[in-house]
Amino acid sequence: MAEPNILIVEDETDISDLIRFHVEREGFNAKVVHSGKIALDVIQRERPTLIVLDLMLPDLDGLELCRRLKWEPGTRSIPILIVSAKGEEADIVTGIELGADDYVTKPFSPKELMARLKNILRRQKEQLIPVGTNGKQLKIAGGSLVIDTDRHVVSIEGERIELTLTEFGILHYLAARPGFVRTRDQIIAAVHGDSAVLSSRTVDVHITSLRRKLGELGRTVETVRGVGYRLAEPTTVGEASHD
Ligand code: CA
Repeated sequence: MAEPNILIVEDETDISDLIRFHVEREGFNAKVVHSGKIALDVIQRERPTLIVLDLMLPDLDGLELCRRLKWEPGTRSIPILIVSAKGEEADIVTGIELGADDYVTKPFSPKELMARLKNILRRQKEQLIPVGTNGKQLKIAGGSLVIDTDRHVVSIEGERIELTLTEFGILHYLAARPGFVRTRDQIIAAVHGDSAVLSSRTVDVHITSLRRKLGELGRTVETVRGVGYRLAEPTTVGEASHD
């Protein structure tokens, strides 16, 4: 099978060289472009497997590029890993809401960057679990936490945990794509549709309560400071057994 083609969009040469070095060392193909406009052109022509995207670019900035890629059906499904300066949390939140998959902040460790990149590639191969999947069980922490999406029941080591509808919705949403950060607004939209019953502040309250109910496994619901939340543990999918 062909190696993944990674497009690195970064105007600072020392950083793009560093990323290229690590991408190639992993055995992947790497291509570097230093401008947003050129990136758009290359992406439309070559359809890379994944884009590593710096947000601060000279001509077309990273968020605008992200917006255009996610708007076009031909490029919409190409995953994006944002590379951003520290202190640009607002831009990271916007990027993720536009459809970017994950992010790292500068200065980043190459190890972390590659771990996130490979996580996206791995997830891309596996079938994503649509929220609202019926008749399935999502299993977390080696199967000790089970979310029965059909019956709306969560259990730890076989013991049923009483969650509110909102807590269940949040856990289910995060578990559908473990390792991926979700912003508060994305959680609100997924759990309550467009209703404004849930606010950013109340998401935090529900998360706190959810963690408490999950006990020891509450730690799997991680806070990503300034951005949102993610489920740290891998999830596996099984058929629900109703015996
Ligand atoms: Ca830059």
